Amino acid sequence: MHATEATADAKRFIEICNACRYCEGYCAVFPAMELQRDFTDTDMSYLANLCHNCNGCYHACQFSPPHEWGINLPKAFAEVRLESYAEYAWPAPLAAAFRSNGVVVAVVSALALAFVLIGASVLVSPVRLLAPHTGPGAFYAVISWGVMASVAGATFLFSLLALAIGAVRFWRDTKTHLTGPIRLADWGRGLHDVATLRYLGGAGEGCNDADASFSLARRHAHHALFYGFMLCFASTVSATFYDHFLGWIAPYSWASLPVVLGTLGGIGMLVGCIGLVRIKLKTDPVPVARRVLGADYALLALLFMAAATGLLLLVLRSTGAMGLLLALHLGVILSLFLLLPYGKFVHGIYRGTALLKASVERRRNELIAG
Ligand code: SF4
Ligand code: SF4
Repeated sequence: MHATEATADAKRFIEICNACRYCEGYCAVFPAMELQRDFTDTDMSYLANLCHNCNGCYHACQFSPPHEWGINLPKAFAEVRLESYAEYAWPAPLAAAFRSNGVVVAVVSALALAFVLIGASVLVSPVRLLAPHTGPGAFYAVISWGVMASVAGATFLFSLLALAIGAVRFWRDTKTHLTGPIRLADWGRGLHDVATLRYLGGAGEGCNDADASFSLARRHAHHALFYGFMLCFASTVSATFYDHFLGWIAPYSWASLPVVLGTLGGIGMLVGCIGLVRIKLKTDPVPVARRVLGADYALLALLFMAAATGLLLLVLRSTGAMGLLLALHLGVILSLFLLLPYGKFVHGIYRGTALLKASVERRRNELIAG
């Protein structure tokens, strides 16, 4: 990680915190910080990605603004995180997308939508596009299976590759101080922390969403979005299994596994996106890094659009609106996949990786202490 103004600020704060240690029970950052005396810029990248922006240390700190030391860890770490996303992005030229993420998302989404809509109207006659289609193969009457699978498959694989390379780069850069193998128990503890969003619970009372008062709203909204996304993914996997291995062609009935999973997942994503936007709108602006807000809102908007167009398509699939809604939904999914490695989504990947390192360090520390 390169030295920047943001890493310098974060280092100055963390050196004071390491002497103070008042907030040591708040999150994974403080126990990880306490294992070191000196800090590099790369350590800031690691600690910043362990931070989940709960604002707890800001509201608890006697040295936060207007104190002359101006300790503001949530804001400093948010700035460092944004720089770390660009640092590890692959391919490197696309890292620029993080700097003006909101604009990039808007442009790519518009292009993806235009691509799918124009493509659909060139490949399919307007009459067929706007006519109602029902029964097995109704979706493929509008956009063929081959086009759908190849476009979605290629963008999904590219996205996976870019995310994996970013995660490896982050791990290689931040794994300093680690010696010896990572054990199964480390993976287990790291995955448990990710799956339960453990630290978003704070000490049981939650985060300081809006002000110094505690709330579990952010944790609940994150859970709804995370598990909603996973259910939608499971719905796609089960639909692929139905199609390829059982020969059951979409659309499926309301009681079928892909539709039940997709409906629950879509509703979860909508609830999660709305909840997170509401929290962002009412939160205290001082611990917020304004230049990361564009990426936050852009990802939430894309996820909301993906869920909303998917649910609308489900409800109106036997009407004449199906063709346009299918093109709209595919356009949104296409831009979502293309932009996943260049937006706020990478925080989930880097935070998971940082939690794995924290889990290894915690075990070794417990061994030494025991
Ligand atoms: S944020 Fe403030 S109170 Fe908390 S550990 Fe740092 S200096 Fe101490
Ligand atoms: S904002 Fe929350 S997660 Fe981040 S360092 Fe402070 S207490 Fe930890």
